[in-house]
Amino acid sequence: IPNITQTNGTAVTNGHVASTSLSASTERIQIVDDEKKFTPELATQIDKWGLHDVGFAYNIVSVFGSQSTGKSTLLNRLFGTTFDVMDETRRQQTTKGIWMCRGKGMNVMVMDVEGTDGRERGEDQDFERKSALFSLASSEILIVNLWEHQVGLYQGANMGLLKTVFEVNLGLFGKKAKDGTSGRTLLLFVIRDHIGQTPLANLQATLTADLGRIWDSLIKPTELKDLPLSHYFDLAFTALPHKILSADKFESEVQNLRKRFVDKTSPDYLFKPVYHKRIPADGVAFYMEGIWEQVQSNKDLDLPTQQELLAQFRCDEISAVALSEFNEQAKSQKRPVEAGKVVDGLGGMMKAWRQDALTRYDRDASRYHKGVYTRKRADLLTALDTTLTPLFFGQLKNLHKSCLVAFKQEMLEGMRGEEYNFADVVTKARERCEGRFTAGAEEAILENTDWSWEEEVQLLEEEVSTVADQCRKDETKKMLNQIESNIKKQVSEPVELQLNKASKDMWDNILLAFKEVLAKAEASYLTKAKSFNSTEDENTTSLSALRKRAWLTLRAKIDEQTTDPAFLSKLRNYFEERFRYDEGGVPRVWKPEDDIDGAFKKAKDHTLELVPLYSKIIPSDDVHEFTLPSEPSDSLTGSDEFDFPSTLVVFSETKAVDLTNKFRKDADAYYVEAKRSTVSSIAQ
Ligand code: GDP
Ligand code: MG
Repeated sequence: IPNITQTNGTAVTNGHVASTSLSASTERIQIVDDEKKFTPELATQIDKWGLHDVGFAYNIVSVFGSQSTGKSTLLNRLFGTTFDVMDETRRQQTTKGIWMCRGKGMNVMVMDVEGTDGRERGEDQDFERKSALFSLASSEILIVNLWEHQVGLYQGANMGLLKTVFEVNLGLFGKKAKDGTSGRTLLLFVIRDHIGQTPLANLQATLTADLGRIWDSLIKPTELKDLPLSHYFDLAFTALPHKILSADKFESEVQNLRKRFVDKTSPDYLFKPVYHKRIPADGVAFYMEGIWEQVQSNKDLDLPTQQELLAQFRCDEISAVALSEFNEQAKSQKRPVEAGKVVDGLGGMMKAWRQDALTRYDRDASRYHKGVYTRKRADLLTALDTTLTPLFFGQLKNLHKSCLVAFKQEMLEGMRGEEYNFADVVTKARERCEGRFTAGAEEAILENTDWSWEEEVQLLEEEVSTVADQCRKDETKKMLNQIESNIKKQVSEPVELQLNKASKDMWDNILLAFKEVLAKAEASYLTKAKSFNSTEDENTTSLSALRKRAWLTLRAKIDEQTTDPAFLSKLRNYFEERFRYDEGGVPRVWKPEDDIDGAFKKAKDHTLELVPLYSKIIPSDDVHEFTLPSEPSDSLTGSDEFDFPSTLVVFSETKAVDLTNKFRKDADAYYVEAKRSTVSSIAQ
């Protein structure tokens, strides 16, 4: 071991030794100062020592004994610590307090108690008692340091100290020991300046007997009164030669003792797991501070409560760290999701963040009080999911939108060109859309949450149906327009032909032709409608619209052919053919003996018969009758109210009279012209 008595002369500030010659790993700290204040720096110091994350893989040892019995010297030798040793030349010690140092090269926290010996100086024993309580609540091993000549002095100061230790221990672990919680501590008696005349075995026997007596003399709670000393303590004894008189032997014995603290394989290994107080290293500072506060205020020190408080504090801290790291990660995707983006692999990320946070929490917090750890874990999980929930539902919403957009796009692409089956296009696009949504939702959902995407997929399905319906309506409209324009082409010629012929069965022929065209159109509609998966109702509606529009197309053509000038010209032609040409189609040359009046009247009467013939669409044979149901306005075709019977009327009565009058004038002109022609032929 290096010589570590070099600590004199290092500057002490705020209980910290600021020494450039010491590395952080052996820096010591005054955890309780002479005003009995607990340092706020212990946690930082434990971290500097590199012990923060060791969990339970550390030990705590402390020392107890009269003043100036070489305690600090021993600790420094055993653990390579840097505690102050009383200056030989001055032989006085004024500070009071508890110091802590990390053992050099070992995960051991060593506590050294400094103080005036109240018993010998007649001062109060308050500090001594408090430091004993404090040491026992955390230490695995309490080194009881005494001179050889103090052994057997039953009334001596050291025995008074031990009584204190026992009492304090009963208060701390007395009740707890029964439910199996480890409250066991090793008392290691180190007999100093052992001359060797009295063998260690004898000294040990004396001490053991004395301890038994002290134990028996304690006033114990009734439920504990039969429990022996060995229920709480293991005892171990060792002796060290005189440090100055047998310096070499002292040194080698110290080395042997050190081995028992270091070598885990040694049968004499002192840090047995059963002594561990099970305070995770990262909670030692908080725990000790709590203990000291309780001790300081003379409150009953209830270790289970302290441990629970510790657990609450530490689990909260650990949880907060895990949560803040988690929130940092989650934040990265918050904005894109809020901006409407479907984040690729969001579920995987969320799962990893959540798992990381829990793993982190579990790693550090699971060492603490089970109940508290479990409760805080549930709280943490709730907090994590509170952050993740809006991300999940945001992702669903965005997924919904993008799937719907893609669906519309696919519909449009699918309906490009002539040769497509509407129903197939819809089915495929719908399947892809819902497949995409489901895959995205399944990726994003996390286990053990109350999340679900049923509602969202239902909404999506509804919107998809609406879009598909709209497309179908648009397509149907387009198709009906197409059919209508075909009808128009097809009825045009027969109408012109028939209306020019003006035969009695003119309407029969027009209706016949019309019905043929219509039948073809209906068949064409039905063929196409199959691919639309149209319902019976929709077909009925479409067909009735088709019929109506076909009829109106026909009517428009008829109107076009029967405008006033067109119709009058028809009448004129008809009349001329009968009046100016004979039955053989030869132009007449009127002679005076000809019955111009008779011929004129006959031709005129015949021609005027056309007016009622044209004025209404009535077939001569009922077989050719055509009829459509009248109906109110229709949103599909955007048409107004439809009254079929009125569409049969080509000319109204007044119109007929008007046309008749106009024609008469024309006819009269022909008559006059005919008369004139005879006069001129006579004159020749
Ligand atoms: P503490 O007050 O119990 O911590 O005692 P210190 O370690 O400060 O030592 C007090 C004095 O005793 C110092 O002068 C040491 O040099 C001396 N000392 C240390 N160890 C021994 C020992 O084993 N035997 C004797 N006789 N003196 C020792
Ligand atoms: Mg000391």
